[in-house]
Amino acid sequence: MQPSNEPSFRESVDIMFNRAVALMDLPPGLEEKIRVCNATYTVRFGVRLRGKIETFTGYRSVHSEHMEPVKGGIRFSLGVNQDEVEALAALMTYKCSLVEAPFGGSKGGLCIDPREYDDHELELITRRFAYELIKRDMINPAQNVPAPDMGTGEREMAWIADQYKRMNTTDINGVACVTGKPINAGGIQGRTEATGRGVQYALHAFFRDVEGMEKAGLTGTLKGKRVVVQGLGNVGYHAAKFLSEEDGCVITGIIERDGALYNEDGLDVEAVHQWIVKHGTITGYPDAQLQEDGAALLEAPCDILVPAALEGVINLGNAERIAAPLIIEAANGPVTAGADEILRGKGTVIIPDMYANAGGVTVSYFEWVKNLSHIRFGRMQRRQEEARHQLVVDELERLSADSGIGWELSPNFKEKYLRGAGELELVRSGLDDTMSTAYESMAHVWHARDDVDDLRTAAYLVSIEKVAASYRAKGL
Ligand code: NAD
Repeated sequence: MQPSNEPSFRESVDIMFNRAVALMDLPPGLEEKIRVCNATYTVRFGVRLRGKIETFTGYRSVHSEHMEPVKGGIRFSLGVNQDEVEALAALMTYKCSLVEAPFGGSKGGLCIDPREYDDHELELITRRFAYELIKRDMINPAQNVPAPDMGTGEREMAWIADQYKRMNTTDINGVACVTGKPINAGGIQGRTEATGRGVQYALHAFFRDVEGMEKAGLTGTLKGKRVVVQGLGNVGYHAAKFLSEEDGCVITGIIERDGALYNEDGLDVEAVHQWIVKHGTITGYPDAQLQEDGAALLEAPCDILVPAALEGVINLGNAERIAAPLIIEAANGPVTAGADEILRGKGTVIIPDMYANAGGVTVSYFEWVKNLSHIRFGRMQRRQEEARHQLVVDELERLSADSGIGWELSPNFKEKYLRGAGELELVRSGLDDTMSTAYESMAHVWHARDDVDDLRTAAYLVSIEKVAASYRAKGL
């Protein structure tokens, strides 16, 4: 639990923002203009369920419209409130700017525990919430484009897209009103796992940064690094799966809402995931110790801590005891402003949320572009690329035979070289490039400036500078 003497989530984001702008030379008033949330719409609506009308409260907050559409997920959780939605919308502004996704920041939420409703009921609730937002242009391909967040996924996004199409039958770009849709409803390959994949690419970028690694006191590669993950949902599951299966990390701990699993030799992420899908809980999972006080495992010795569930979990109450030298904020706002200060004092390196989980919005950007161009990435070039590569292979083989050298291209090389890039390969390449470029821009500020001693401040500086430049160019 977060101690009550801590600032709210939105205040926490503002404190971090203020630390960074104090190092900048912005024109008078612009700092305030960037910080404030432009508008928050609150809606209460009723849905008839199980013979009675239930009233729900939802929000859509627009933080900054320096670029449109504005972008940000829709969250279904009992913790949703105006303060939280505004904090998340602000983070979206900075995140989009940092990774150069051409959007302003927004966020939405519905105060609901989705586990209490069946599929049909959830569809009714989601469609009604979407209706309320669509009729006020708070969901619109040109103005405001939501995506999945905690408690929502591609199913909800498909309902929202369909609801928009029903209300805007002649909008040829209607399907671009929301991202994170299933493939057969206008989605893009690689979006579901994009945020987790982005966390993996962020760690790759960090592990290439010699100075950054030194600051964290880490050496070597990701192989064998002990990782504790909190939240085995969309982001945490994919991040943990890729890190363990592809990079050789040892996932020693998984913290969920009903406790934590610990195994010094490493947990099988896929097996734990399947267990949760089948049983709805981590309790009873065989190959691990169960720890009832799950959050206590955040303090366990490990190399990398990946909070991937919710905000405020590392706070004044436990920051001092966090043992990991490196924290990557897969969730939004998992470290409070107070905890951030304590951790900086201890030398803990934090890869900040606005960068670490930006893989989701990056691939959402690709999906939006795909929807507006009405064509799948790679569709025009793939065969042509393959044909040109075939020419090179044929020529090499002919030269080898004619000259009598007798070289043979290995089948593995030929197979890889001849295959043209499809949508998934292009999405991964675009995501990797985005995460590396954004990391380098942050790390440059972190290492080059004496007055910047953490990646979060560096990230804010890079991102606010771009937002400010956009306001200056356009006028207000
Ligand atoms: P999700 O609903 O798929 O998963 C959340 C997971 O956290 C669930 O497994 C849930 O059981 C667990 N959890 C909830 N409360 C917990 C607690 N108190 N302790 C431990 N575990 C708990 O949500 P998600 O989409 O994976 O989002 C997780 C975080 O990542 C959020 O902060 C979200 O804003 C952020 N994020 C998500 C995306 C995305 O593309 N989905 C993109 C960027 C950022």
